[in-house]
Amino acid sequence: MSEIAHYIGGSRVAGTSGRSQPVWNPATGESEKTVALASTAEVGAVIADAKAAWPAWAATPPLRRARILDRFKSILWDRGDQLAEAISAEHGKTHEDALGEVTRGLEVVEFAVGIPTHLQGDFSANVGTGVDSFSVRQPLGVVAGITPFNFPAMVPMWMFPVALACGNCFILKPSERDPSASLLIAEWLTEAGLPAGVFNVVQGDKEAVDAILESPDVKAVSFVGSTPIASYIHKTATANGKRCQALGGAKNHMVVMPDADLDMAVGALMGAAYGSAGERCMAVSVAVPVTDQVADALIEKLVPKIEALKVGPASDKTSEMGPVVTKAAQEKILGYIEKGEAEGAKIVVDGRTFTPPQGYENGYYVGPTLIDGVTPDMTIWQEEIFGPVLSVVRRNSYQDAVDLIHGHHFANGTAVFTRDGDVARSFAQDIEVGMVGINVPIPVPMAFHSFGGWKDSIFGDHAMHGMEGVRFYTRIKTTTMRWPTGMRADAQFSMPTLG
Ligand code: NAD
Repeated sequence: MSEIAHYIGGSRVAGTSGRSQPVWNPATGESEKTVALASTAEVGAVIADAKAAWPAWAATPPLRRARILDRFKSILWDRGDQLAEAISAEHGKTHEDALGEVTRGLEVVEFAVGIPTHLQGDFSANVGTGVDSFSVRQPLGVVAGITPFNFPAMVPMWMFPVALACGNCFILKPSERDPSASLLIAEWLTEAGLPAGVFNVVQGDKEAVDAILESPDVKAVSFVGSTPIASYIHKTATANGKRCQALGGAKNHMVVMPDADLDMAVGALMGAAYGSAGERCMAVSVAVPVTDQVADALIEKLVPKIEALKVGPASDKTSEMGPVVTKAAQEKILGYIEKGEAEGAKIVVDGRTFTPPQGYENGYYVGPTLIDGVTPDMTIWQEEIFGPVLSVVRRNSYQDAVDLIHGHHFANGTAVFTRDGDVARSFAQDIEVGMVGINVPIPVPMAFHSFGGWKDSIFGDHAMHGMEGVRFYTRIKTTTMRWPTGMRADAQFSMPTLG
């Protein structure tokens, strides 16, 4: 059994804590690897390494930093398949889906390569007689990213390309469920020319996270994961004087208006609800057809497509949906289906009855599930299921649909399908959700915009990547200067003004 290591000082380093845990292949339910779990002392040593590497990295011209990231980007283009395979083997998602995540992460690297432009400051000439003023953005120091299992390459790439480009050193604490992608990324950054100690990986669990949160040498923490942990991370990081952006869970509704193109809505729902086995923070988990007539027509079109969905391991290139990540996740999702039925919802397509392909009987499969008659008092509407389960909540009017969305404590993403410009514009303008799609089911912002929800889907003031990322990973410094010509020699004791 091999052990997945840390990446410190420019190379793989075996764990010394004596603690590790198995990493499972969700397709088979077997484990051939373990992952090291860092101790507080190991994390402290990584932080010290990164701190030592920081002054030289911060002093490296942004253009030179950008060129290293540009080389890393080329490596990613060339070896995307290798990274996607590592992701699929531990996460379970299909190869094409994993490749898609790599590409979406790579786009943030592309954004970060433009850092000399993004870091351009402001200059005001002659703010007073003979006085000029300029503002620049400077890096924070050592920053850390704590990431979830569902995007083991893309979510770290929401963070570190911008952090590094801005001149910070970065410590990644990946999910212990699919840690291998992080090591490939680290090795390729080194190969691209990143100096040792600038990007490090510590594998681990709560002990490693707490060591990061408590270290005075870590200046900012980026987190993506479930809401209870996001809330804990934000509270602890800010109590320790750090900057923190912590993105949490989701329950994303897709409203289908009577004038929508129904076939387009059905296709969108299929991909958005069942792609990646529903383990996406932007997955659509609630369809909200407006009127019973739309609901009936939608379900009629959805059912045969759901029943025909090809579920299987990533190694089978014809699979459209893989297993879920762990046995615990599988049991939790199946439990939610039970709960929905017990609370009175109608199971239209039942994922509990799914039979895995031969040879994969022990994999963590849940069949795609469709549940009708879901109401806001049910647990399956209130809580995030994070699996291939689509609930249908029927509404009678556009306003009822909006009120439903506003009644949820999550507000990550949402979408409306309609041909009516007025409805679309009102939705985009008024809906209290961070990311909105108009006839787009998974409105994940491009790298040069920023990603983040509202309400319990985010803790902290900054979304990720784009200019929000640049603001998060830098602090502003404003210099006011004058030169002897025109300078007053007498002392002034009142507040300086233009006069
Ligand atoms: P998780 O919260 O269990 O884990 C996320 C990270 O936190 C991991 O690195 C894990 O090791 C660490 N962690 C777990 N428990 C901890 C504890 N008690 N103390 C300190 N650290 C702890 O999340 P997950 O199951 O890996 O990911 C799925 C969740 O992430 C879902 O809720 C999903 O909606 C959310 N997510 C949100 C976004 C977004 O952008 N809003 C994106 C992707 C995933």
